[in-house]
Amino acid sequence: MRTDRARRLIVGNWKMNLDQAGARHLAAAIATAAKAETYFSDMVICPPYTLLHAAKEALAGSTIRLGAQDVFWEEKGAFTGKISPGMLVDAGVDYCIVGHSECRGRFGAGAVEPRLARYFADDDETVRLKFSALLKHGIKPILCVGETEQERKEGRADQVVHDQVSRVIVALAEDATGAAVAYEPVWAIGTGQVCDPEEAARMAARIREILDRCRQTGIRVLYGGSVTPENAEALFAHEEIQGALVGGASLRVDSFTTIVRYAG
Ligand code: PEP
Repeated sequence: MRTDRARRLIVGNWKMNLDQAGARHLAAAIATAAKAETYFSDMVICPPYTLLHAAKEALAGSTIRLGAQDVFWEEKGAFTGKISPGMLVDAGVDYCIVGHSECRGRFGAGAVEPRLARYFADDDETVRLKFSALLKHGIKPILCVGETEQERKEGRADQVVHDQVSRVIVALAEDATGAAVAYEPVWAIGTGQVCDPEEAARMAARIREILDRCRQTGIRVLYGGSVTPENAEALFAHEEIQGALVGGASLRVDSFTTIVRYAG
């Protein structure tokens, strides 16, 4: 455990899982673990919208923050099915994921039929609108970026990630301190195929260069993609990796808290 660097940020993305009882139970168990033990990282859980209230109640009195998995950028109006930043504030949300590869329709092989992937329509422009709208409401965005397997094979990983980050950050008027950028290679999400820690650290360093050039030094750079208790220590051996976005392993209190422990 290190004390001479910024705290890491560990975010649990529950995706489309659990029900009211399950959310209460898991959030309460994580809160109990966090009270029993001193963690040196900041923790956030991101349940589906319908479970935010249950999770919020279960987290009462704990230091664990609540996050959402997506947002719409407008404040109100005829936008059926959408949730605004103001609604998230009202629900007690502090963080929100934007641009997750699943919301961009960039799935690993076979997850969604290609003809249906257009339903998941985020692109860099909509992600930028969401990122900005969240900041204006005091919610910390967690921007997800990452290349597909094909893009990596073609040697385009650095360029893809560079473009995804800079199209959101370069023209940003606001100071985004507290926000995060998560490097999430699409081929590593939900596949069990974690990125080599050296390579994850190298990509995190590239992202850090862009953030520094834009004077956004208060944004943490995370890694996401099949993070588990088995690989967390090797990932966190790298200072460039300032936290993790955890999907599958965040649905169990023991695996999630073990990852937090390794974050130091
Ligand atoms: C994610 O949800 O962003 C993610 C990285 O999932 P997993 O940890 O399951 O790969």
